[in-house]
Amino acid sequence: MNTPSLLDAEEAVRIIHGALAPLPPVRIGLGEALGRVLAEEIVAAEPIPPFDNAAMDGYAVRAGDLPGALRLSGSCAAGTVYPGTVNTGEAVRIMTGAAIPTGADAVVQQEWTEPATSGAVTVTRAVPAGHNIRRAGADLAAGTAALAQGTLLRPQEIGLIASVGRREILAGARPRAAVLTTGDELAAPGEPLRPGMIRDSNAPMLAALLVKEGCDVVPLGVARDDRDELRSRIAEGLGFDILVTAGGVSVGDHDHVGAARRAAGVEILFWKVNIRPGMPLLFGRRGATAVFGLPGNPVSAMVTFTQFIRPAIRRLTGAASGAGTTRLRARLAEEIVKQDAKRHFVRGILSDGEGAPAVRPAGSQVSNILTSLVRANCLIILPEEGRAFPAGTSVEVELL
Ligand code: AMP
Ligand code: MG
Repeated sequence: MNTPSLLDAEEAVRIIHGALAPLPPVRIGLGEALGRVLAEEIVAAEPIPPFDNAAMDGYAVRAGDLPGALRLSGSCAAGTVYPGTVNTGEAVRIMTGAAIPTGADAVVQQEWTEPATSGAVTVTRAVPAGHNIRRAGADLAAGTAALAQGTLLRPQEIGLIASVGRREILAGARPRAAVLTTGDELAAPGEPLRPGMIRDSNAPMLAALLVKEGCDVVPLGVARDDRDELRSRIAEGLGFDILVTAGGVSVGDHDHVGAARRAAGVEILFWKVNIRPGMPLLFGRRGATAVFGLPGNPVSAMVTFTQFIRPAIRRLTGAASGAGTTRLRARLAEEIVKQDAKRHFVRGILSDGEGAPAVRPAGSQVSNILTSLVRANCLIILPEEGRAFPAGTSVEVELL
């Protein structure tokens, strides 16, 4: 079936982006920085490393003296500066990280020396000037940008920020998110499962996704399929930066989420996107609150989260677009045939292949089946155009 009138995924992301604005940044210590977004540019005021230093334990020498026997005139450890000069025919014992003494132009690693009489050392090989010297500014020259605004902070970025001497940074605020699941059939964990009921898997899964993306999450519980109850529970969520509901956005007789949202004053900016799973996704706004209505099937909920709520969180935190998402190309290990002109997100297993990574479906693609999503390590993204994707086709995958 062709559904050309449906909004495409890029346009949906553009609407989300345009509807939201970054939250005011906050000043935080580096201890809180993991997973946060840098809201300023980090510049190295001083060169990093600050001085020429030894890359190995060994001897600081003049390269022109080698090979040969040298007089050992002292030693210098990391954290100290050797007070003298290395003259011709001399060596100074040096440890990794210690500043290169004046006069020396190379460091010979210990393994290329032989212990001589005390007060002397024999170097068995010649080395070029600069050997084993880590130059001042080799990591960052003074005045250069170390990290751009919008960078998602991983441990290595935090290390780099510390290396330029910063203890605090300006970071994107943590969005406050509320999660409301809907459905008369939902039983919370611990509640008895009466006939016709299922467990609420979305609430904990969506909370986990939000936390993983750097949000503070408040669970609003389960709302029954009753328009008035939904309206009042949705109203509770409108004090947050993001309200995520799951379920009730389709066209069933008890799908009241759209109407309840309108009744709660939410401006609906789109409903339905040309994707599978997750087509009935709804997005709206009330004041500064981004309101998402995800379809209730857990796989649809997670797929739409990754494609639409994650970009919304990036926008709110000021992250560079695409930060934290890895997409790459892989070869299909088996044919996939799709039945419609939607963009498909297929649960996939990415592994090593000959010449290129290989990817195959992780099992059932029915949207209530969570076990195949658990087996998956990626989503295979099949474009709208085309139906049959034979084995060997190069496809885009997004890591989960
Ligand atoms: P809906 O989007 O409300 O039409 O729900 C679609 C399907 O997802 C139905 O089979 C629901 O029972 C199921 N579902 C809805 N919400 C949840 C949830 N929180 N956890 C697990 N399944 C759900
Ligand atoms: Mg429902």
